[in-house]
Amino acid sequence: MQGDEHVFHMDAFEPGPGEPSPERAIEAGLRPTRLTEFVGQGRVVMDLRVHLEAAMQRGEAPDHILFSGPPGLGKTSLARILAAELGTRLHATTGPALERPKDLVGLLTNLQVGDVLFLDEIHRVPVTVEEYLYTAMEDFRIEMTVDSGPHARVLPITIKPFTLVGATTREGLLSRPFRERFGLFERLDPYPASELAEIILRQARILGLDVTDDAAALLAERARGTPRIAGRFLRRARDYAQVASATQLDLALAQETLQRLGVDALGLEEMDRRVLRCLADQAGGPVALKTIGAVVGETDDTIEDVFEPHLLREGLILKTARGRMLAPAGWRAIGRERPLPEEGSNAAAQATSPERQNERREQGGLFS
Ligand code: ADP
Repeated sequence: MQGDEHVFHMDAFEPGPGEPSPERAIEAGLRPTRLTEFVGQGRVVMDLRVHLEAAMQRGEAPDHILFSGPPGLGKTSLARILAAELGTRLHATTGPALERPKDLVGLLTNLQVGDVLFLDEIHRVPVTVEEYLYTAMEDFRIEMTVDSGPHARVLPITIKPFTLVGATTREGLLSRPFRERFGLFERLDPYPASELAEIILRQARILGLDVTDDAAALLAERARGTPRIAGRFLRRARDYAQVASATQLDLALAQETLQRLGVDALGLEEMDRRVLRCLADQAGGPVALKTIGAVVGETDDTIEDVFEPHLLREGLILKTARGRMLAPAGWRAIGRERPLPEEGSNAAAQATSPERQNERREQGGLFS
């Protein structure tokens, strides 16, 4: 498939004129641009390679692809890479930006053969728009109703074969008919520290920064399995190196950076600790997600998408049918002790030891 040049329509991600966002622009410049530069996620990369090659041999647009996983793991990067590998254009938008079917029509009719349409936060596409996407994905056509009342007519519009790449942090929120219209489902998992160190060293090379292996390893270890966080730590460490007129980012500078950012040995930052403290203040929970959000000043979506996955993975909190609970490791992480149940309470009568008691509570209604 031969495309024009690679034109990226990344309005949703890159600063537009008059709204500079240097952080975003730097991050965009550090993205891997081809599959060979994409570190890790071996199975996903292999699936994509095979499918892309087969589709290109057949002269067809690749099947629609759904990427899922927590933020910052490389979903947007992969969508860009796909267009680059295909030699076609990438058009990008987000679910909430598509308010009405009309918003979709312009986007779809603009597509050239083989273009990639990247739809981030696809679980937030309104239902009315979602239904329009069905025929576009399946038959490369949509039907627009023009005029209204007795003059209303249905106008069929043909679209050039394209590949929809959806990204979601909440695969479970996608309706079944929508999911079924994707040919490939790729789940991105957190990265091991060794791969994050590789990503850090690659970005450092692009930035012209000399980073020692032990400094890269330390930043990687604390980055919660997330390339976006690893990149942020590197850029902050680069600031400190620059201000200190250091020619090299070494272990001491990496340690100082993490300390100044308030990142502890588990990779927790202030907001993570606030979530843990909120649970501790409620005797360890259970506390509803909405309540946690209100206490720490974040939306419950952000708590669930951004902060919770790492806390759950590290075994610091537990997800129960009645809300979130602080696990023994969570109490330790914030240096607090779980209060003993009051004299004469049910729990006190049953308790043998705080650990045992916690086990009982955890067994009382866990989802997973
Ligand atoms: P998502 O769309 O899942 O939120 P992004 O694709 O925006 O994540 O990735 C965030 C940043 O992390 C990007 O700027 C990119 O530089 C970096 N990144 C993500 N995954 C990788 C990877 N596998 N290899 C190298 N860099 C990566």
